[in-house]
Amino acid sequence: MGAMDEHQYEMKLEGALNLGCMKTGMEIEPEIQAAVRILLQGLGEDVDREGIKKTPLRVAKALRDGTKGYKQNVQEIVEGALFPEAGLENNRVGQAGGVGGLVIVRDLNLYSYCESCLLPFQVKCHVGYVPSGQQVVGLSKLSRVADVFAKRLQNPQRLADEICSSLQLSIRPTGVAVVLECLHIDFQSGGWEKLMVSSGSGVFQDQKDVNNNNIWTEFFSLLKIQSSVSGNTQKRINSISHWCPSEASETSTIPPSGMISAVTSMLRALGEDPLRKELVGTPTRFLSWLMNFQICSIEKKLNAFAGNMLEPNMKANGEVKCNMKAYSELNLPLWSMCEHHLLPFYGVVHIGYFSAEEINPTRKSILQEVVHFYGSKLQVQERLTKEIAETVAPFLGGDVIVVAEASHTCMLSRGVEKFGSSTATVAVLGRFSTDSEARALFLGSLP
Ligand SMILES: [Zn+2]
Ligand SMILES: [Zn+2]
Repeated sequence: MGAMDEHQYEMKLEGALNLGCMKTGMEIEPEIQAAVRILLQGLGEDVDREGIKKTPLRVAKALRDGTKGYKQNVQEIVEGALFPEAGLENNRVGQAGGVGGLVIVRDLNLYSYCESCLLPFQVKCHVGYVPSGQQVVGLSKLSRVADVFAKRLQNPQRLADEICSSLQLSIRPTGVAVVLECLHIDFQSGGWEKLMVSSGSGVFQDQKDVNNNNIWTEFFSLLKIQSSVSGNTQKRINSISHWCPSEASETSTIPPSGMISAVTSMLRALGEDPLRKELVGTPTRFLSWLMNFQICSIEKKLNAFAGNMLEPNMKANGEVKCNMKAYSELNLPLWSMCEHHLLPFYGVVHIGYFSAEEINPTRKSILQEVVHFYGSKLQVQERLTKEIAETVAPFLGGDVIVVAEASHTCMLSRGVEKFGSSTATVAVLGRFSTDSEARALFLGSLP
């Protein structure tokens, strides 16, 4: 079943809104929308606030699109895309064409949802097969089939196995090989969990050892991945049960039961069985991440710092401004959550200021705390940048420029943006708003 594309969807939504029959597009995944409202309330948010009023609808739509693979059929995709292709001319020795000869599609960029914590994870997928029976498959179908299984709640090894076995079944080649390079956000450390997995059938299955096998070696050299990496693959596969960072960090706080049942009902609405053993702890793990963005905690933390923040670092009455020089604090790590889609965005914040002298290390660490505080609630990047600027300005003498650079999981996982793209937002206060030279100097100094 093909899902509606973005445009059709918006049209349908607009139609519903114009008819006045639905105030919020409630006919789309009503269970998920109801659950998201409970989660927002659990975070202390006002569900009627302008910025998040449509968040339940956006989350429902993102989740539905992100799991549309449950409703797609591989046989239908591959059928009609098998083309006759002869092997070598008679008596020639070798393999090529529709009989033998490796075919590889590399670097397919996919997104999947982690079944352990419900965060999207990034997948670079490589698929290869050895044709047989004098037929080949349309190359675009390999990525279509991979996407069918990526658009479900997954873990990397099962994803690789499902892509592999479904291609083996539908194309019936001599063998199929699948290698996935996966990246999962690690919220605790502010870094990434990386995992490479592989799956093979037919000739690739017969000789399982990735390191001592000609066909795997050929496959990896065509992927331009060094054999040492493939060696690591094998090692990492053994520890796959802990690939999701939320599994390693069990929290002691138990989320409110109303929120747990809300997430459970979301799983059910997606067509999953919340009692499937891999999913049993998922609502708790998802919530232990989500609760980092509770609205009250940020205010509590900021108050604790209020004393430090208000103490002026330098005379800001204008008398000593002739000695002012421009300083900057670059690459302060940033993690936050998009209030429109309840998905993380992450990157760095750069802060520039005019001062008689550079601030001391203690105060530098407070800047990082401020960035962290404002990241710890539902946000949009523009507001986050403004809030950081307004908070640090009195503390840095009043003349401040703040630049946030971040990648948004919501844009990547919905296919709106490509891998590696990012968004920059700028806030300027005081002298930076009128002094274009100072602004240019600071922007030019950014890494
Ligand atoms: Zn996870
Ligand atoms: Zn978003």
